[in-house]
Amino acid sequence: MLTDRVHRVRIAHLPTPIDYLPRLSALLGGPRLYIKRDDQTGLATGGNKTRKLEFLIADALGHGADTVITGGAPQSNHCRQTAAAAARHGLRAVLVLKGEAPKPPHVGNILLDELLGAELRWSGDMPRDEALQAAFEAEQQSGHKPYLIPYGGSNEVGATGYVAAIEELQSQLRSGYLPICHFDAIVFASSSGGTQAGLSVGAKALGIQSRILGISVDKHADVLSELVADLANRTAERLGLNVRLSAGDIEVNDNYLGGGYAVVGAPEREAIRLVAQTEGLLLDPVYTGRAMAGLLDLIRKGEFSKGQHVLFWHTGGTAALSGFSEVL
Ligand SMILES: *Cc1c(COP(=O)(O)O)cnc(C)c1O
Repeated sequence: MLTDRVHRVRIAHLPTPIDYLPRLSALLGGPRLYIKRDDQTGLATGGNKTRKLEFLIADALGHGADTVITGGAPQSNHCRQTAAAAARHGLRAVLVLKGEAPKPPHVGNILLDELLGAELRWSGDMPRDEALQAAFEAEQQSGHKPYLIPYGGSNEVGATGYVAAIEELQSQLRSGYLPICHFDAIVFASSSGGTQAGLSVGAKALGIQSRILGISVDKHADVLSELVADLANRTAERLGLNVRLSAGDIEVNDNYLGGGYAVVGAPEREAIRLVAQTEGLLLDPVYTGRAMAGLLDLIRKGEFSKGQHVLFWHTGGTAALSGFSEVL
């Protein structure tokens, strides 16, 4: 395994299933669509951060931490999965959430954060990195041993989860689990870059030829592809893999940023309803709804041919749906 040299705790239900989407594929009349179900990683409603947390929690335990600290948007899926992973390992979780506490009743991920026993801190007007650093220092001063997990769990430790994930995909394809042994493209939502960095490193190390296409949720393509390449290289180095990537190797599409991060517009609403009503499958309002809206648009524009096989990597987030009921 590519990740053998680093520590890992087992949290996720792996391998996650891959489903064929016959009704959606037929309706669009384009490539055959499949979906990788990382919304089913099994940790408190699942999602892509669970894979990252297998390596992050192992690192935290290795550092003798008793507390993990991370931050995010109020409806952060990353924070909710961190709270759950911490609970499973007897660690405290301190979550620094952006802005002011919303009025109760709390819904979506915030409700789950509380049920999972996390301590919520609201950053108010403070810039996010300052707020995270302040929380870290406050924990140290009160005698705890905090371990800082970056936004989205996206450093070389967390990204390792997606190196393992693409190796998992390769073994599913080789095992005869599906009627095909290759995807022409792998499409997913990309934001803090850990998912795309891990997939890209793993694909290169394993010689996987699939196009790896990140639909940007909130960053311009040049910014995100630089960030992903840098993170990919640090991840490869930590794993001792002789793989180097440059921004030009990282494919990011930033045509679907809409009104900005977590602003649900008509494309996201259409994608969520279409997939729900043709396949009985839930997407989320912030990430997978936007990425699927992008994929639908690309298919309608003829970006993929009829004979191709495209894998949509579902990265989770459905726990946030009720937090967006007014705009959905
Ligand atoms: C965090 C998140 C992403 C983005 O993954 P990155 O590794 O941060 O790029 C995509 N989808 C969902 C549901 C997420 O919570």
